[in-house]
Amino acid sequence: MTPAWPPRYDAAWLPAPEAEHWAPELECAKPAEREAVILGKLRAQVQWAWERSPFYRRAWEAAGVSPATLRTLADLRRFPVIQKADLRAAQAAHPPFGDYLCIAPGEVARIHGTSGTTGRPTVFGVGRDDWERIGEAHARILWGAGIRPGDTVLVASFFSLYLGSWGALKGCERLGATAFPFGAGLPGQTLMAVQWARDLAPTAFYGTPSYALHFAETARREGIEPRAFGLRTLFFSGEPGAGIPATKRLIEETFGGRCIDMGSMAEMTPWMTNAECRHRTGMHLWQDLVYTEVCDPATWQPVPYGDEGTPVYTHLERTSQPMIRLVSGDVARWTDEPCPCGRTYPRLPHGLYGRLDDMFIVRGENVYPSAIEDVLRAIDGFGGEFSVIVSRREAMDELLVRAEHAGDVADGPARVRLAQTMKDRLRARLGVTPIVELVSPGTLPRTEFKARRVVDDRDLYRQGTGRDGERHVRP
Ligand SMILES: [Zn+2]
Repeated sequence: MTPAWPPRYDAAWLPAPEAEHWAPELECAKPAEREAVILGKLRAQVQWAWERSPFYRRAWEAAGVSPATLRTLADLRRFPVIQKADLRAAQAAHPPFGDYLCIAPGEVARIHGTSGTTGRPTVFGVGRDDWERIGEAHARILWGAGIRPGDTVLVASFFSLYLGSWGALKGCERLGATAFPFGAGLPGQTLMAVQWARDLAPTAFYGTPSYALHFAETARREGIEPRAFGLRTLFFSGEPGAGIPATKRLIEETFGGRCIDMGSMAEMTPWMTNAECRHRTGMHLWQDLVYTEVCDPATWQPVPYGDEGTPVYTHLERTSQPMIRLVSGDVARWTDEPCPCGRTYPRLPHGLYGRLDDMFIVRGENVYPSAIEDVLRAIDGFGGEFSVIVSRREAMDELLVRAEHAGDVADGPARVRLAQTMKDRLRARLGVTPIVELVSPGTLPRTEFKARRVVDDRDLYRQGTGRDGERHVRP
């Protein structure tokens, strides 16, 4: 018998507070048994798109595949991948939602989108039932992170087109926690958030990692020690920081709570389906909600566990704008080694540590900004913010790392030693000798959203930006 699709969930269901899992029969299932469930959902999802979306039908007919192709889960890899550029082109030709909208436009309950700072924005149309399922998925994942109905969750991120904050809010509400949707981005709002947090004593925090650190600096300027807020859990998306070991450690030492890494892509909402559990062993792939393959970017075939590739995502319960094999462009390694939580999902043990188009090559070495962040944050005397400038001088690449020193590093020999330590450790990690320039604390820009830390001056003569509004831009 084919299970009912799209699934309907019992809106009243809650596990006992001491339970580790929301849906142990799925989260802890033997992978082969769970894959049978996933295959059933996938077939229904693909059939749904085949019948309703000219976009998918065109692409699949050209590739010689159809819903009948899906005899096993592995048959999914015969389907072509789609890229964000394909979605933008479909929306340009069929505005506003593109010809991959699989519900009537009148059934769209929420409109969101990307900011589109470097190109055409992408419009997301989310159906009402989808929005409920997104809440259910996020509640289940937040439960895994240790959030419980007794928590008060400070959502310190933009409430705008950006989906992340809304998804966190919806998940908190479904889970029965107290939501504190404070937002971010208005002048003076960080200081206000600090004052409200002091008075309201939230136990959980959502935002970006760089914003959490900015929030902590603002608190300290107000004479409030960030640990005094009493945050037990801080969960993040939008940036790789919460998965970068030194940044994770810094956030946990600063706030005294658990730092949990989450996030995939706004197109993939529920976007928390890459998410760490409270044990923080790297993000689990919650495969029965969104099915993820970590693929070789040359062939789009899954790589073996242990190898590196780019996540390719497939919705399993999305009626409005299903994404079937959407390329993320992020870079991750995946593993099926067990986690103490008992979930049998594969994991990304080092998170999403780079982007295919974020990586820059300096003198033949692949460099990810997250590696530079990891090195600097582990050094005593680093002041908290940095920027990277790559340029070309007399046909040679030059890597300049401009880093703040901490306020208590004295002028003179101490600073020379600090710069030398940074240079040595960066060279050891990156395989490239950088120029390190120390600047005073607080001189580099802070962000309330995604940090933009890399400027590649060699780009000046190149066409295009490549990265969908998220490309590191020239200041
Ligand atoms: Zn786990």
